[in-house]
Amino acid sequence: MDLSFNAEEIAFREEVRAFLREKVPSDIRDRARIGWSYLPKDDYLRWQKILFDRGWIAPNWPVEYGGPGWNTAQRFIFDEECARADCPRIIPFGVTMVGPVIYTFGTPEQKERFLPRILATEDWWCQGYSERGAGSDLAQVATKARRDGDHYVVNGHKIWTSGAHRANWMFTLVRTDPDAAKPQQGISFLLIDMKTPGVTVKPIISMDGYHYLNEVFLDEVRVPVDCLIGEEGKGWTCAKFLLGNERTGIAGIGRSKGRLERLKEMAGAEADGGGRLIENPSFRKKVAEIETELSALEVTNLRMMAAMSAGRPPGAESSTLKIRGTQIEQELNELLVEAMAYYALPYGPGQVRPDTNEAPIGPDYSVGVMSERLLRRAASIYGGSNEIHKNIIAKAILGL
Ligand SMILES: Cc1cc2nc3c(=O)[nH]c(=O)nc-3n(C[C@H](O)[C@H](O)[C@H](O)COP(=O)(O)OP(=O)(O)OC[C@H]3O[C@@H](n4cnc5c(N)ncnc54)[C@H](O)[C@@H]3O)c2cc1C
Repeated sequence: MDLSFNAEEIAFREEVRAFLREKVPSDIRDRARIGWSYLPKDDYLRWQKILFDRGWIAPNWPVEYGGPGWNTAQRFIFDEECARADCPRIIPFGVTMVGPVIYTFGTPEQKERFLPRILATEDWWCQGYSERGAGSDLAQVATKARRDGDHYVVNGHKIWTSGAHRANWMFTLVRTDPDAAKPQQGISFLLIDMKTPGVTVKPIISMDGYHYLNEVFLDEVRVPVDCLIGEEGKGWTCAKFLLGNERTGIAGIGRSKGRLERLKEMAGAEADGGGRLIENPSFRKKVAEIETELSALEVTNLRMMAAMSAGRPPGAESSTLKIRGTQIEQELNELLVEAMAYYALPYGPGQVRPDTNEAPIGPDYSVGVMSERLLRRAASIYGGSNEIHKNIIAKAILGL
């Protein structure tokens, strides 16, 4: 199996690199470097418009719907170069999640209505899957939708809805048949306009002190039936398809490589009392170990991509990438905090918020380190918790 890039792919990397050098606005890059979760909505809109104009907004879409026609290696290179250049991520809820569901299961009218708006980021989507009691065991969703003429009337409560306060649309799982024989049956995939009366969004402040998470209350929300994707009661098929896409790339290798560079930069700087942390053999060993782990993960990822290019579906190996990728990310964040030493203590959420003028405490490069550490504790929970991925590996790979 050949894991190296060919001449065409190397040329592609140069093309992407040159584009990013020229086009990423420096103010957005500076903010994204702190942590792209903290960017204001307008930064995403500006950046996604630049990608849209270049035809690169939807790397995973087929050409017929507006994708660039890249192979897996090109998509990997693109992701890696974007992370390396401190670009904001492409907001996944539209392009990576609901878009592919719509072009795979939607009607021609739904494709025409929603896909161009996703590409142009004219709509901002959020994911209304999780509920209290329906997280890992998603098939337990209890939000109900009853048919009333040419509408569904939706009642229920979604939780952990990232970015719902910014979104104007939510894709969601609702129970249309409470009497179905199995929990996976009788679920439907519905698109809800967030401006519909009866939709209430309430913030959840996460332990980094920031607001991305929400609860969404749905009270007698009337949703036109043309917002149902696929067949009524067959939403589980769309739900699973979407989760498969959500988990692609969740290992965050590009992001971790960027953080490793940051770690080396911080540890290489002159400390307050003189000397450099990187000269400490114990810390140096930790950096070397994590770099080795990350390289091994990257090779595993390349091996999986090479198999996919040869026509083999990703399968349960992607669970290995998710588990190890998030562990490495979290370990790197711990090391960054260690490198920051006492500057980690006076962390205040205001330092990373672009809408305040609170000055950073400590050296500029340390801003965002503590907030990212706190935020990314959740990386082993979202996208399927690591325990669930271990179950998948046990069944599908180890045959237990
Ligand atoms: C930062 C963040 C952002 C999120 N964004 C969204 C979003 O935008 N939209 C959305 O719909 N959801 C979102 N979620 C929700 C996320 O998908 C769920 O948190 C996740 O699926 C776990 O579900 P739960 O929180 O209900 O935990 P539970 O399912 O109750 O799990 C609790 C614990 O038990 C373990 N566990 C559960 N079942 C098993 C099992 N069978 N075997 C072994 N261990 C098990 C889990 O691993 C976990 O440690 C987000 C979550 C976080 C933290």
